[in-house]
Amino acid sequence: MRAILKQGTSVRVRRVPVPEPDAGEVLIRVAVAGVCRSDVNAALGLVPCADPLVLGHEFSGVIAGLAPDVRGFAVEDRVTVMPVIPCLKCERCAEGDTECCPYHERIGFRRPGAFAEFVTVPAQVVHRMPGALTFREGAYAEPVCSSLGVLKAEIKPPDRGLVHGADRTARLTERVLRSYGFTSLDVRGTGTGEDRAERIPSDTYDFVVASEPRAEVLDEMIRVARPGGRVIVRGRPLEPVAIDLDAALRKEVTLESVSYGAFAESLAFLSQENEPVSDLLGSVRPLEDFEDVFSAESESQRLKSFFCPNFAAIGTEEIEAWARLMCPGAR
Ligand SMILES: [Zn+2]
Ligand SMILES: [Zn+2]
Repeated sequence: MRAILKQGTSVRVRRVPVPEPDAGEVLIRVAVAGVCRSDVNAALGLVPCADPLVLGHEFSGVIAGLAPDVRGFAVEDRVTVMPVIPCLKCERCAEGDTECCPYHERIGFRRPGAFAEFVTVPAQVVHRMPGALTFREGAYAEPVCSSLGVLKAEIKPPDRGLVHGADRTARLTERVLRSYGFTSLDVRGTGTGEDRAERIPSDTYDFVVASEPRAEVLDEMIRVARPGGRVIVRGRPLEPVAIDLDAALRKEVTLESVSYGAFAESLAFLSQENEPVSDLLGSVRPLEDFEDVFSAESESQRLKSFFCPNFAAIGTEEIEAWARLMCPGAR
């Protein structure tokens, strides 16, 4: 099969063997796989990863095979996958918060990912897709799950909030908060326009969400949070971040870090009638376009791009059928 393989400093589309499901695993034929900034960081060697490694962690597809001990799934089920594989032994896992297991292994970082025609994953992280979801929406469940993490912070709907950022992650987080009843929300980015965060008076918000954990951003968020307010930190920095802790202490601002909400809840969010993410989803490209797709993702995170790894391998009719399933207008 074809896969985007990182090996040392080289990243190329290569032929690799189709993986076989081990005990407890399923084999998935990948329909689409979303491209995330963290995939680009992995490709550039900026995050620790297995080597060699098939990249890609946000995906949907159909089950193509199962280990004999797997129950509850069948070949041809349409599925999406939570790429965090929990340890199932720690306290968080015992509490049912498996998405936030600190001892997890990640698909596309530690084990082979989904920028490939097929991928094997443990059945425990596989979720059947609700019928109304397109493959692109299914593949977008992981970013939604990450935005849902914000709701774990100690905030409630009458609170006034700021979502910092101008990219699709900020827009998604705003939509998640609005759908959970937060109506008093602003979204501002760093930039030169009217909507830049620097124009906000100090001590304005009950809570602020910082998706881009850079020192300048966090200091700015501490400034605009009210005394006693909260700065919710999401998004992983590549390096340690030095912030003005004294400013936070003076105002007793709580810094709260969140990673994921519940994956099942992200499928429920995506299944809403109003198609809450359709305008955030971009084009579907063959694996061979990866250089273009990765550099576009580095420059702007406006729309989510996807690979369709099986595009070159299947016939026109199948492509048509898959395209219909992938097109949000053709539910
Ligand atoms: Zn991601
Ligand atoms: Zn665990």
